[in-house]
Formats: sequence, C-alpha cells, structure tokens
Amino acid sequence: MSADEILDYDSVFEKYEPVLGFEVHVELNTKTKMFSSAPNEFGDEPNTNVNEVDLGLPGVLPVVNKAAVESSIKIGLALNCQIAETCRFARKNYFYPDTPKNFQTSQYDEPIAFDGYLDIELEDGEVFRVEIERAHMEEDAGKLTHMGGAAGRIQGADYSLVDYNRAGVPLVEIVTKPIVGAGKRAPELAKAYVAAVREIVKNLGVSDARMERGNVRCDANVSLKPIGQEKFGTRSETKNVNSLRAVEHAVRFEIQRHGAVLESGEKVVQETRHWHEDTRTTTSGRPKSDADDYRYFPEPDLVPVVASREWVEELRATLPEPPAERRKRLKTAWGYSDLEFRDVVNAGVMDLIEETVAAGLKAAAARKWWMGEVVGRAKAAEVDPGELGITPDVIVQVNGLVEAGKINNKMASQVLDGVLAGEGSPEEVVAARGLAVVSDDGPLLEAIDAALAAQPDVAEKIRGGKVQAIGAIVGGVMKATRGQADAGRVRELILEKLGVEG
Ligand code: ADP
Ligand code: MG
Repeated sequence: MSADEILDYDSVFEKYEPVLGFEVHVELNTKTKMFSSAPNEFGDEPNTNVNEVDLGLPGVLPVVNKAAVESSIKIGLALNCQIAETCRFARKNYFYPDTPKNFQTSQYDEPIAFDGYLDIELEDGEVFRVEIERAHMEEDAGKLTHMGGAAGRIQGADYSLVDYNRAGVPLVEIVTKPIVGAGKRAPELAKAYVAAVREIVKNLGVSDARMERGNVRCDANVSLKPIGQEKFGTRSETKNVNSLRAVEHAVRFEIQRHGAVLESGEKVVQETRHWHEDTRTTTSGRPKSDADDYRYFPEPDLVPVVASREWVEELRATLPEPPAERRKRLKTAWGYSDLEFRDVVNAGVMDLIEETVAAGLKAAAARKWWMGEVVGRAKAAEVDPGELGITPDVIVQVNGLVEAGKINNKMASQVLDGVLAGEGSPEEVVAARGLAVVSDDGPLLEAIDAALAAQPDVAEKIRGGKVQAIGAIVGGVMKATRGQADAGRVRELILEKLGVEG
C-alpha cells in the first residue's frame, strides 16, 4: 500500500477551504438493549448477553426500549433540536456477519430529533456554532475480531470471531450539517466538537461516554473546495476515530491529503477511510456513493414512536445545567482570569474547588490550595486530583489553621503530607507532629538570648549598626525553634533587645 502524498498544511489554505461533517455514535447505558430484554453490559463473556431477538431468529418481535427513547429525547433537547411528534424505525438492509438479522433497525427519514445546534468554545475562547442535522435512534452491531492477521484487520486473517453481546445495544447517531468556515482551525474544532458531545451525554447520564470502550465513536467527513466556490468538493469519511486526539489528527491529515490530490490535478475519491494511530495517517477503505442502496423501508414490526409534548417537557425539566454554561457561571462567580480558570479546568479541579467554596472557603484561597498543593502531588502519584485522598473538607480545615495563625503555609504543606500518610485529620497531624507557630514571645526571647550569647561577635556588629548581619541570629533562633517561629517577629525582638533601629 503506497503512502498518500500530503500537502504542507498552511499551503492548503492559500487556495482551499475545508468543509467538515461529523457522525457521532453514542452508546446508551440503558439496562437492556434497544429492542430486547437482553442485558446491555460491557465486558462480559462473549455471546452471553444475547437473546433470540438480537439474533433475529424467525418469528421474534422487537419491543422498543422506553428508557432508550427517553435518553434519545434528552440528547436531542441538549443539542437544541426539535423533537419529532411522531417518528418511525426503518430497516437498513445489508449482509454482514456482525448483524445476524441482515438488517440494522435504524431511523431514516423520520429521526426522533432534528435541526439543532451546539455552540463550541475553542481554546482561545472563540465560539463556533455547529448545526445539527439530526439525531436518530438505532442499534449497534456485534463485534468481529479477526485472528491471525496483522493489526486485527480482516485482510490476511485466518479466521474471525463474532461476539453478539453488542448487537442491539441502543445507539444515538448525531449527524451535523456541513460545517463551513472553520478554516485552519478545522482540526481543533473537530476535536472540540466531539469533546462537547461526549461531555454532554456524560453530563446527561445517558451514556458512560468512554471513548476507549467505543461508547462514543466518530466518523469524520472532510472535503476541500476552492476559496469562494459555493459547491462543496468530494468528501472522504474516516470511520471510527475513537479518541479526541485522533479526531484532530485525522481531520488535519485528510485536509493535507485532499490538498495534494487536488493540486496534482486529480479527483478526490468518495470513499471511507481507516485511521491508523501508529502512523497518524488514513488509508483507503471502500468506495461509498451518496446513493448506497440499503433499501431502507419502514420497520413493519414496530409502531411509530409518539413523543407527546407533555412527555418532552417533563424530560426537558430533568435536564442538568449544560457543562459549558456551568463553566461560565462558575468562572464569573469565582472572579478568576481566563488563564486561571483554564488552568483549573485543565488540572481537573473545577468540581473540587466548587465543593470547597460551598464548604465556606473563598474562591481565591480554594484555587491556591488545590493548584498549589494538590495538583502537583496528584501528578507525581499519577492519579486524578480527586483520587489523591485530600478532600475539600481537609482543605477547609488546613486553611482554617493557617488563618487562625496556628500554622504557617510551610507547615500546612507538612500537614497535607501527614493527612496523605494516614496520620489523621489536619488537627491530629498538627498535634502529632508538634507543628505550631510559636507566637508567644517568651520562648522566642530565650532562644534569642541563647543565639546572641553563642555569636557575640555578630551581636557586636549589629550593635555597631551592621543590621544586615542579623540573618545569622535569626537563623539560629529559627533552628532552635524548628522553624516554628515567625521570622519577622524574631527580627523585631532582636533589634529591640540590642536597642538598634531597624
Ligand atoms: P453517510 O450515510 O453517507 O455517512 P450522513 O448524512 O450520515 O451520510 O453523514 C454525512 C456527513 O457528512 C454529514 O455530517 C454531512 O453534513 C457531511 N457532509 C456532506 N457533504 C459533505 C462534504 N462535501 N464535505 C464534508 N462533509 C460533508
Ligand atoms: Mg452515516
């Protein structure tokens, strides 16, 4: 297989602009399958969660899963779609061993949700609106595993295994309208769009949304057209791009590949493409025309789905606050700068700060503790900040000890070490480790006398006006008090004692 030529990324945009389109499949986390009572469970022994409906045995009848319809309506609403008053399932006919019925029950010209949009925020804060064409319900296919060949592909395999546990798992397919105008930021937008969809379905609770398990899968359509031309160019469809990074890279690669094809005077072939993570390239799949003959027809075994307006409004009332709006609200409430807020989100401590603020801490202090003390430790331990073992309560307690003047910031860090080492609550760590700022002047004066007596020559210098020599005495006192003295207060007391002006 010869590698495709690619054009330098920036050069593409001198002549062409990209058009994108995404088909995102979301697996719903319902208890049972779309049309049968078999369990919808990931990771079980192959072919154990399968019944006669999933296998398409003669005489069986499908029944629509109400929970899956509810989840689909919620997704439609979260994508700002219209919800169809009535819609139907259709048979998409094709023969392939992953679908024992020889057709996929899907929706065709009557999707449950249509005409929506999603506002996608790019990294620099620019917002780009992506229009949603439709979101429709369908069922997943079984999973084929090709054995003996290279890279798990069917080419060169000795035999294939099939697992029907996934056959019939409820899916919602979300299809965008063609996206024009992203320009050079097309790959970034692609990644941000899929990330937003994943976040929304996760936030709705309708999908586990784990891309590495295939809960969210993206087909990325890309074409180029000469700048200024209305008519779209021929698209390629890169299938099953299953990580956010891969979506970004696949779109970028396809833009460069299309550029090279067009620049050499050839035509782009309308086809599916496979993404290869190792080489970060795509290779040709199968040719695909817009009129592939799936012989769609309405599913005769299922009645239409009627979504009453009351039901839709009931479901709308249950929707959680959209993630993007929640971020905007928290940023304003906390008064963080753009950069501060982005760092907090990227470090994965936004929820933790929210809980800490709810427990009574000021937002600035909460950020200081989580970003300054916890994020680094979590990174070192290779866990999420929330999994480290420091709770918002602990942060509130440690902050309280500092504010009360019982410990200083340096000791606070030791207290957190103690909490992580299982030494108990912050108060208990302070007691057990004997940490406390010495605020009483008595013991300080004793330590100062001792330090002055130990270094009479330094004491003499200070008396003579060489105030900068005081560091040696302060150091002696800090050492004697094991770092628990307030260095500023020690300095004041030494000067007083020696009768020297600071
Ligand atoms: P198919 O079944 O062929 O995959 P779909 O309608 O499900 O078709 O999805 C096609 C996707 O490609 C949609 O998101 C659509 O907006 C997008 N699209 C259509 N034409 C083009 C084009 N010329 N360039 C880029 N994307 C396109
Ligand atoms: Mg499609």
